[in-house]
Amino acid sequence: MDSVGVAAAAPDAGPGPAWQSKCPWGAPSTTSISCSLADVMSEQLAKELQLEEENAVFPEVVAAAEGPFITGENIDTSSDLMLAQMLQMEFDREYDAQLRREEKKINGDSKVSISFENYRKVHPYDSDSSEDEVDWQDTRHDPYRADKPTTTPRRGFIGKGKDITTKHDEVVCGRKNTARMENFAPEFQVGDGIGMDLKLSNQVFNALKQHAYSEERRSARLHEKKEHSTAEKAVDPKTRLLLYKMVNSGMLETITGCISTGKESVVFHAYGGNSATEDKVIPPECAIKVFKTTLNEFKNRDKYIKDDYRFKDRFSKLNPRKIIRMWAEKEMHNLTRMQNAGIPCPQVVILKKHVLVMSFIGQDQIPAPKLKDVTLSSEDMKKAYYQILNMMQQLYRECNLVHADLSEYNMLWHDGKVWLIDVSQSVEPTHPHGLEFLFRDCRNVSQFFQKGGVAEALNERELFNAVSGLNITADNEVDFQAEIEALEKMNEDHVQNHGKKLSTFSSDGDPPIYDE
Ligand code: ADP
Ligand code: MN
Repeated sequence: MDSVGVAAAAPDAGPGPAWQSKCPWGAPSTTSISCSLADVMSEQLAKELQLEEENAVFPEVVAAAEGPFITGENIDTSSDLMLAQMLQMEFDREYDAQLRREEKKINGDSKVSISFENYRKVHPYDSDSSEDEVDWQDTRHDPYRADKPTTTPRRGFIGKGKDITTKHDEVVCGRKNTARMENFAPEFQVGDGIGMDLKLSNQVFNALKQHAYSEERRSARLHEKKEHSTAEKAVDPKTRLLLYKMVNSGMLETITGCISTGKESVVFHAYGGNSATEDKVIPPECAIKVFKTTLNEFKNRDKYIKDDYRFKDRFSKLNPRKIIRMWAEKEMHNLTRMQNAGIPCPQVVILKKHVLVMSFIGQDQIPAPKLKDVTLSSEDMKKAYYQILNMMQQLYRECNLVHADLSEYNMLWHDGKVWLIDVSQSVEPTHPHGLEFLFRDCRNVSQFFQKGGVAEALNERELFNAVSGLNITADNEVDFQAEIEALEKMNEDHVQNHGKKLSTFSSDGDPPIYDE
């Protein structure tokens, strides 16, 4: 079955597909009260977290296949890579434990003691294995952004005559990589081979090299108390561990690489595993959305979530990291609602903290193109338009949602139809700004299709009325928006007076369903 089949089959599958029924991660915990909303929004806290975050950045490579390093062909080492990284972390921990023992031995009962702190490999923040771990990333130097690839030698071989070594000679290459580890920074402990014939695959070597470099820079940074973190791609170690567990449990087969690095998330492609013990089916191809946990993005987004009554009670009780997880949770819930209404969208596989696994829209690792990137025939363009009009109505009426970031950037063209993605910011229409968000969505959609030559495309005001079922008559944008805001205010007043929202804005019947 292909990914389309999996996603499309779902609406018939009742409340949820079989593979959703059992959650190997257990129920999400909602404990821990660590700060108030005021704290969360405070500049002081922001600064502290920023500082903490800078000290905690410890980025690593997940999608090493993308790296500007040597590559080998047909070597499937994706799980080796994870393992090697885990082992390296273990090794670092042991190394530090040994340091501590030596420190203790030297210091004994003496009043004056020396510290090996600066020689440690695993820095204090990383060794904290509590539930509330690092999520914060430096926002100025984005560790998720892929580095510009450096050039690799074109000819792909070295040596002469019969001593020629091509980059594809796995065994020789492996030994070379092992030898090259010695070139890492002197304080980077690579261990010795104890006479063993060690062969490292290119991918593992690259990952370790990356690790060595980042550790080197990280240590330098800590010691010099530099302000800036290095620009690295990939995710923090805790996220890596989550991904590793997903592969290790058999839920995912392999994580092949990164599809997208956006401001707010990184998306990876993975092949679904066949966790045979669970009575659930994982889609053959999955997309893994890792929510980036930058303070800045979070601050920009609070207006979406803090007024969403579904999350209201919890907002004030959560620490900032948990609010990031809430974005992922919101996307999961919204996707599920859409799935139940039969709207083409990714199907949720599992949510773990700030990592959401869903079905992949696309095929053979190639994601479906965004609407903005695809050239459609005028016939398909018209078809797409009517489909979107329909989906917006369904979203509003059946899912009780407004997308709130709808545009040609968040619609994929796959299998001859439009798929909606990116719904973590979606809100209910009665959200204090819900109608404004809807109007913005309508404007994007109208403009896109009017420019795209769909003569039938309604203008943004007509589209707004068609989706919401409201009958705002203003014939210009300014007045129209004023009426929208008046309606929102009316709803807010109703909340003040009655302690609850209007169930819906519409009193003049259902909106007409537009069909071709
Ligand atoms: P962001 O908040 O970063 O825009 P999105 O959810 O829009 O996050 O994902 C970013 C990009 O990743 C999308 O534009 C799309 O190309 C790709 N993507 C996301 N989810 C999927 C999916 N389920 N299948 C295929 N591609 C996806
Ligand atoms: Mn997007």
